Amino acid sequence: MTQPIAGIHHVTAIATDPQQNADFYAGVLGLRLVKKTVNFDDPSTYHFYFGDELGQPGTILTFFPWPMARRGSRGSGQATVTSFSVPEGSLGFWSDRLERLGVIVEQPTARFDEEVLTFYDPDGLKLELVAHAENLGKPWSRGSVPTQHAIRGFHSVTLAVREVEPTAELLTRTMGLRRAGELGQRSRFETTAGALGRCVDLLHTPETGHGRIAAGTVHHVAWRVPDELSQAAWRETLASLDLQPTPVQDRRYFQSIYFREPAGVLFEFATDPPGFTRDERPDSLGSRLQLPPWLEPQRDQIERVLPTIEMPALDHQGTS
Ligand code: ZN
Repeated sequence: MTQPIAGIHHVTAIATDPQQNADFYAGVLGLRLVKKTVNFDDPSTYHFYFGDELGQPGTILTFFPWPMARRGSRGSGQATVTSFSVPEGSLGFWSDRLERLGVIVEQPTARFDEEVLTFYDPDGLKLELVAHAENLGKPWSRGSVPTQHAIRGFHSVTLAVREVEPTAELLTRTMGLRRAGELGQRSRFETTAGALGRCVDLLHTPETGHGRIAAGTVHHVAWRVPDELSQAAWRETLASLDLQPTPVQDRRYFQSIYFREPAGVLFEFATDPPGFTRDERPDSLGSRLQLPPWLEPQRDQIERVLPTIEMPALDHQGTS
């Protein structure tokens, strides 16, 4: 038997320049770079993981920075917005900070009784900060943003879908989320776990064509499963629904299976363990290029090809 899904595990998106990407997510947004590794399927390029202090599930945004990647486009069958949770009363701080640092920011709006600030990363990835009453999670306290305003983790993702019901049915009947509200073309679903990253919004976009997954777009959304046993059960369930899950892939910090949900968004079910302290101590996470054992023999060659990354100078308390 499978347990209901607890929430988002991580979101993976595509970027271009790795230095620009690290400058934005660690320097501007104040997330911790919890792991610097390579794309296991293309070890000549980086894979960055940003998150809270330990990179807990529900806080992890990961990037494949491909310097030569073309700009993608948002459209149906995609996760078109990634939303972070920040404490209530923090949006003024964020709006000032983002504008001062040259980020494109829209006017705050209200949605389901919460305030939302929309902005874009340097590759055009659409992001939101949602002021949320509950103060969940443990943000990175030694980052570039004062702890009282720091990003807690994910609030939600928004999936643009041409048809709502097939995806809604997967979310509710199979994954165990509940319908939490309707607002215009938006339907909100929520896990019962009360954790970070517990919401997903389906935005009904029947007239919108499919987007192109490339730089500035989300590649996939990963959902939490507690362990490999549960993942194996999920694999059977997904296969019985003809969703054709992949075999289990060893992602080193979690084990993964992938499938496309009915609207076309790539979903992953990733295990909570072992996490990012598998190969680095908590206080030195992200400081050295980490390679899985099967790539370690090629370290010299890999390091020669990868561009050098400087961690951004911290912009503490918004004073610089
Ligand atoms: Zn993933």
